[in-house]
Amino acid sequence: MSEPVIITVAITGAIPRKADSPAVPVKPSEQIESIHEAFEAGAALAHIHVRNPDESPSSDPDLFAEVQEGVRKHCPGMIVQHSTGGRGRSQSERGRCIALRPDMASLSTGSVNFPNQIYENPPQLVDALASSMLENNVKPEIEVFDAAMLYNAKALLQRGLLKAPVHVQFVMGIPNALPGRRKVLEFLVSELRELMPDATWTGAGIGRHQLEMNQWCFELGGHTRTGLEDNLRFDKTRLASSNAELVARVADLAHQYGRRAATPAEARRILSLPSADST
Ligand code: ZN
Repeated sequence: MSEPVIITVAITGAIPRKADSPAVPVKPSEQIESIHEAFEAGAALAHIHVRNPDESPSSDPDLFAEVQEGVRKHCPGMIVQHSTGGRGRSQSERGRCIALRPDMASLSTGSVNFPNQIYENPPQLVDALASSMLENNVKPEIEVFDAAMLYNAKALLQRGLLKAPVHVQFVMGIPNALPGRRKVLEFLVSELRELMPDATWTGAGIGRHQLEMNQWCFELGGHTRTGLEDNLRFDKTRLASSNAELVARVADLAHQYGRRAATPAEARRILSLPSADST
């Protein structure tokens, strides 16, 4: 049997909720409930953005803390990953959630164009976020939105700003960034194996690329991500009406590839994270 697959659920994201997307959870209580349903459906890792009361993206550590506490209480062992992503948040605020010591935080190792804006990650910010994660013992998930970011991660590792084994996520299908093409993923995975042989990897496909990306991840031996954050972005494709429904579909699909959803304890072992009772 091949390695179990870590299913990440990206429940909320930073894209404004529209009238036709009522299932996106934005209040901490809604988020905890949505994560719990996804946990029961097979997700082992929750990727979290929080929102202000007006639903704009927030950096408020109290909101992150509330969701983190709820997940720790209701989803035993589940891996908590906070987003340090931009989109409406100032650079100085993006690292505030790291001090809460979630298990993981996202770290983009370069800048890239999104459909209507630059996703800015200047070198000084990347270094500052990486240092803060090291100090707080928070494992980064390296977000690769463009090929250079993979090589930048290797450079951070060589400079001692990342600890091995590194965990990388390839994000594909955002207009203006990496296209959703299997050959591109194959190339990136082969480069990762050469550059950082002990690294683990996962993949996220955006919009209509979400499901095919899940399949490629299974075929190429990676882990995978689903959730409404990716599903409702940038195009009108809607693959499901809830986070749990998306997770259940991915967990089912895994069996067709001889794989199964990793439990939180297995996911922690695979990612070299401490077991839940020691956090
Ligand atoms: Zn995100």
